[in-house]
Amino acid sequence: MTTVGLVGGGQLARMIALAGVPLGLQFVFLDPSPDACAAGLGQHLCGGYDDRDKLAELARRADVVSYEFENVPEHSVAFLAEHVPVFPNAHSLATARDRLREKALFDELGIPTPRYAPIRSLDDLKRCASDIGFPAVLKTCTLGYDGKGQAVLRGPDDLDDAWARLGASSPLVFESFVDFSREVSIIGVRGKNGETAFYPLSENLHRGGILRVSQSRAGDPITALAQDYCRRLLDHLGYVGVLAVELFQVGDTLLANEMAPRVHNSGHWTIEGAEISQFENHLRAILGLALGKTDAIGRVAMVNFIGGTPDPADVLAVPGAHLHLYDKEPRPGRKVGHATLRADNGPDLEAGLERLVALAG
Ligand code: AMP
Repeated sequence: MTTVGLVGGGQLARMIALAGVPLGLQFVFLDPSPDACAAGLGQHLCGGYDDRDKLAELARRADVVSYEFENVPEHSVAFLAEHVPVFPNAHSLATARDRLREKALFDELGIPTPRYAPIRSLDDLKRCASDIGFPAVLKTCTLGYDGKGQAVLRGPDDLDDAWARLGASSPLVFESFVDFSREVSIIGVRGKNGETAFYPLSENLHRGGILRVSQSRAGDPITALAQDYCRRLLDHLGYVGVLAVELFQVGDTLLANEMAPRVHNSGHWTIEGAEISQFENHLRAILGLALGKTDAIGRVAMVNFIGGTPDPADVLAVPGAHLHLYDKEPRPGRKVGHATLRADNGPDLEAGLERLVALAG
């Protein structure tokens, strides 16, 4: 039997395992938390992401290793890759975990981004602010997620505070604040033989830097451009697995915000809303199996439950709703579940979505 090793044992690892068990796969997770929510679906190695003994054990028990998040130390990835096939490759991960490397790659591949500049001192910050202007966003280059490690800069008065809050951590990047018409993401998958497939575009709504709602937008006219950008990244990186690219739409153009070298929250709707989910296709890719169809089934949306979950009975009472609870202790700002909504037409989707958004609070 094939065993897949996953670095991280949170909800993404859990949903990968839920997709893999019917394919006859077994799972082993490395996660420092004793109550990692994927643990019940396989073996759990409880240890840090830089624990050599645990990494060696993961490599020993697994036939192939992948990740549920990109903030894995580079030396851990290199160590794993010496002992077991690792997908996506170390270079993709190293690029995606550092905003400056990621933006440099976008530049190299002709993928537009918001104006940006690296920041290493308060002087740099003041100079960039006068060059690029306000409003802007200051972000840590590494370890930021769900809006963490960021400060919105509205004017010169915000610079000292933002520097005091973020300047002591990793290098920073200064980005112009984009007045986008909407945020979208494209999820692509590339197999070992270079075969690629793309899910329909997702349109995403964030609040406080955290994704709240995604809607599948099959047939959206900007899809071809988003796919083109994603394909450039997949091919250039010799990528294997699922890659998500988050984009800001401004008029008919797309600016790349960031990429995630893994399955992505804006693709959770694919579990019930696509022929084959992003989780199964990630597994198919890293195992060298044929990729499955990515077409959406009807109209689909997804609502995140953050900080707490509604009464399951209320969610299930919404026609076309599918509930996913992650078995995580509720905490403010923590993703603890989601619901996918499927409908045959736009009005039914809108009506159900309104009810789910109200339940999510
Ligand atoms: P990130 O962690 O970079 O994905 O940022 C989280 C969210 O903050 C994004 O999805 C946007 O809603 C918002 N955001 C980040 N960067 C910018 C930007 N340069 N302009 C406007 N909004 C941004």
